[in-house]
Amino acid sequence: MRRPGIIFDLDGTVYLGDRLIPGARETVQWLRQHDHPIVFVSNKPLQSRADYAAKLTRLDIPTRPDEVINSSLVLVRYMSREMPGAAVYPVGEPPLLEELTAAGFRISEDRDEIEVVVASFDRSFDYRKLDIAFQALRRGARFLATNADATCPVEGGEIPDAGAVIGALEGCSKREVELVVGKPSPLIVEVAIEQLGRRADECLMVGDRVETDILMGQRAGMTTALVLTGVTRREDLAGAPVRPDHVLGSITEVPRLFSSEDVTRDP
Ligand SMILES: [Mg+2]
Repeated sequence: MRRPGIIFDLDGTVYLGDRLIPGARETVQWLRQHDHPIVFVSNKPLQSRADYAAKLTRLDIPTRPDEVINSSLVLVRYMSREMPGAAVYPVGEPPLLEELTAAGFRISEDRDEIEVVVASFDRSFDYRKLDIAFQALRRGARFLATNADATCPVEGGEIPDAGAVIGALEGCSKREVELVVGKPSPLIVEVAIEQLGRRADECLMVGDRVETDILMGQRAGMTTALVLTGVTRREDLAGAPVRPDHVLGSITEVPRLFSSEDVTRDP
């Protein structure tokens, strides 16, 4: 029989910064030994898939780049389908620009020819970038974003994420972002299940954020498991907009969901 596919969020689920969550390596190993296909998903567009795979491999979870899906990959797949070869102005960091260029998009700062503005996580965001994006949006360019996270957790706190760039562009252009491809968008699910070779209802989504990981999995018809090693605490669940099928102390409890032949939902 086909073993369920597993979609793992990364930060807060598999690792915290540069530290593996205890038991993550053994869990992934167990799932692979039992023929569960696995992909790792991240909203973060700051690193390439190869970088994430290298990081996981360094942390002793051997991973190929095609087992990682991040928001910049999903964006580039979507744009390649909907607007191939478009002139794009990305407010983002070099890995995103490289991914766009590699897929045949032309990076442009000419406000009259920019067809698409992409808002992303950009730690060198400044007034010049804001103005170029603003002028292009005023002239009718499409308005897309890699992800909408307000902040990104880092050691000792949080830093502004792509949500801040979206907010700045929306604030001056008086336009709303048209499409955010990262979690909880169905577009990222589409790429994940294609990679897993499973239907959505044959997948388990494991993550630490209710409003992205769990919401996305649930909307897609997947079984969902929240882990308490990241941003969500058990007491946060009372007011949460969606309820996960399973609440796990950590990733180490994932194998026990498969002690029978299927993922079974809690009553
Ligand atoms: Mg997370």
